[in-house]
Amino acid sequence: MDVRAQLVMVFNLDKCLGCHTCSIACKNIWTDRRGAEYMWWNNVETKPGAGYPKFWEDQKRYKGGWVLRGDKLKLRAFSKLSTLLNIFYQPHMPRLEDYYHPWTYDYAKLYESPEESDQPVAEPISLISGEKIDIEFGPNWDDDLGGSPLYAEEDINLDERRIVTNFGSIFMFYLPRICNHCLNPACVAACPQRAIYKRGEDGIVLVDQNTCRGWRFCVTACPYKKVYYNWNTGKSEKCIFCYPRTETAQANACAHSCVGRIRYVGVVLYDADRIEDALKVKDEELVEAQRKIILDPRDEMVRKAAKENGVPDNWLEAALKSPAYALIKEYELALPLHPEFRTMPMTFYIPPLSPVLAVHRAIHDVEEHEEVPDKNLLRVPVRYLSKLFAGGNERVVTEALERLVALRKYMRARNVGEQPDEDSLRKAGLDAESAEKLYRLLTIASYNERYAIPSLHREYLDVTPSEERRGGSGFGISIRPRGGQ
Ligand code: SF4
Ligand code: SF4
Repeated sequence: MDVRAQLVMVFNLDKCLGCHTCSIACKNIWTDRRGAEYMWWNNVETKPGAGYPKFWEDQKRYKGGWVLRGDKLKLRAFSKLSTLLNIFYQPHMPRLEDYYHPWTYDYAKLYESPEESDQPVAEPISLISGEKIDIEFGPNWDDDLGGSPLYAEEDINLDERRIVTNFGSIFMFYLPRICNHCLNPACVAACPQRAIYKRGEDGIVLVDQNTCRGWRFCVTACPYKKVYYNWNTGKSEKCIFCYPRTETAQANACAHSCVGRIRYVGVVLYDADRIEDALKVKDEELVEAQRKIILDPRDEMVRKAAKENGVPDNWLEAALKSPAYALIKEYELALPLHPEFRTMPMTFYIPPLSPVLAVHRAIHDVEEHEEVPDKNLLRVPVRYLSKLFAGGNERVVTEALERLVALRKYMRARNVGEQPDEDSLRKAGLDAESAEKLYRLLTIASYNERYAIPSLHREYLDVTPSEERRGGSGFGISIRPRGGQ
């Protein structure tokens, strides 16, 4: 058992407002620079829709992530020969039009124009060339319209067109995305320069700007398209999980500013020895295989192995209070995004139940038939959610939704003074005590309950950046405290 610690973010999709405050907070701190105008390390897209960059989920087009060939995991885009041949040219990367052409407006024209018979107009100007441009796409171009046929049809997860052409069944929700700081990061494995590395102490994936040569293998290899090329510096860049903030126990800027309070950040302990095997199962088994390698922080054997591996005491304490562990493992509510890309993402999503009326109908159906609700009564199709969050496994999504419906039904009864039905809670795997705790976590949890982030003292670790990189990808990176206990 090789126990390591990872900082993990969980998103509760039922509560995302689509306000983009998270994206703006991130933009203002990290990517408000020349060459980074088009980058949104945090973006929020509307589903169903094509996303940003356009069609990022379509690996036939972009060839990102890993595939299982026989019993070997291989990068979809690269072999030794193609690495050599593509060193100066990446044919499968998104083009600038697939992200969007960044622009600003000529605001001065509005108040400096001389008096004329027509109103002055602020025209869009390219942030790259400074020329006038026509705006044809943007990072949230289909915002709020994602559910309409025009945009929804572009979503490769939607296999039933009638869902979005029938007004009665149309649906939409928001999907905030950052880099997943994966356990098997394709970006790290693809980099011939070893400029990208996964930090041993907290699992954050970073690009060493001094080593990067701008070959962009990482851009092709990341199936989530969360590595970006800076045309000004000639280097790749990506989300850094706000490590200068997390090292001092502060929440990431996107999480700190989240208006809907949908985000949770905490430590999970995992067994690195079992990552490879957990990735060699069928698509539908990936969620459960990933859950299994996440370890119980109360288990004495796990704690001992973690200590021997150099995980500091304050990290082990934080793991006990981790909202991420509770939502992923204890309540089995939070699911990884596209696990079939086989990078083992370390951000997780609680699937959405909305709209409220459909849930209400489902709750009443439960009361009439005294059973857990029929998943088909929920507006957002389980099939669609299973393609996003479970490699097509409808059962794990249904179980999570049933738990959320049972919790709503129970708390509603409590709040309106009815007799709460503990039977349906039990059927959904909860009891009165765990339901109370979950309700608190999902609704009124305080800052410290949502973000259980331990500080990090780099001086206690004897890991140098070059040592960290030796592992190449998520497997095989060692962490040792100074003095090597
Ligand atoms: S492969 Fe994973 S870790 Fe690497 S950039 Fe993509 S999402 Fe981030
Ligand atoms: S700030 Fe929070 S609620 Fe608003 S879009 Fe971002 S994730 Fe959603």
